[in-house]
Amino acid sequence: MWPHSLTLVATMTGEISDPARQNHHLPKTRGRLYNGPFAVMVWAMPENTPPNHADTGLEVRTHFVRSRHALVARADFSDLFVDYYLHLGAQRMQPSPEADARFKRALAAFVLHCASRPWNELTAWTINFQQPPMNLFLTGDNSTGAVAGRVFEENVKELPENLFYADVVRGAQPKRRSAVAFTGGDPLVAVEEFYKQSEQRLGRFFQLGEEEFALVTEHPDCDLAWLRALTAEQVADLKTTETLALLERRIVRWHCGCNQPRMMEVLAPTMRQDPDELFGDEPKLEIRCPRCGARHAITREAMEAYVAETA
Ligand SMILES: [Zn+2]
Repeated sequence: MWPHSLTLVATMTGEISDPARQNHHLPKTRGRLYNGPFAVMVWAMPENTPPNHADTGLEVRTHFVRSRHALVARADFSDLFVDYYLHLGAQRMQPSPEADARFKRALAAFVLHCASRPWNELTAWTINFQQPPMNLFLTGDNSTGAVAGRVFEENVKELPENLFYADVVRGAQPKRRSAVAFTGGDPLVAVEEFYKQSEQRLGRFFQLGEEEFALVTEHPDCDLAWLRALTAEQVADLKTTETLALLERRIVRWHCGCNQPRMMEVLAPTMRQDPDELFGDEPKLEIRCPRCGARHAITREAMEAYVAETA
């Protein structure tokens, strides 16, 4: 079905979103916006539009704290947040202030986590909050430095607790999924819980400035007492108090890579089942990318050709 895709990762439908209202009652208006069921994919990159290397991007530096056996990833996210806001503006998306604040913290945590991981990993996080109800989605490809994501504030499933999902594909290995429950409204707390329960090591986030964050993670033989007691002030000043070895400088860019063929992949199952439900009597529809929310217009003619070709 996806001949050139390496993998299809997460299908969240039914787990943390409630798709019941979405797929079967599409509004029958001209230029309708199709918000498909929350089937989120980590796409293999060859078919996606690559990041634009003319964009400077965000630099994330990782250092190893020699005498403590811990890894520090640190970045100032101002530029990436600007790119995220430009994307929201261009795609006419307006998350609530609360969702927006949470998404930015989640994005910072995600980028720092990915920078601490091997180059051949694809990662996707979904963070479900019950109060107020929202799902945050983030995806990143370490091989290209591309990160993207979006907020879902509709059709969020009611659950007894908040849930954090991580999906990871390393190289040609099968996908690994882990899920942990967490409390409260801070994505950083969710990710620290993920480190504790799934990674089974200590990972701590620190906010060093308005838009500057650091992640310090435990490595074998780590000085755990030191890491547990570490404060944001100490992390900000680590250069003067510890011997740091620079490991890497990675460039990260806000980039989804979605394009028309990708959107047709998303629509294909519904198209095969019930093309009239999808299009009604309209010649085209608009779909938002499930990964980043970008709008794409798809004509019925193109969609018919696509399902005929890929049957
Ligand atoms: Zn997209």
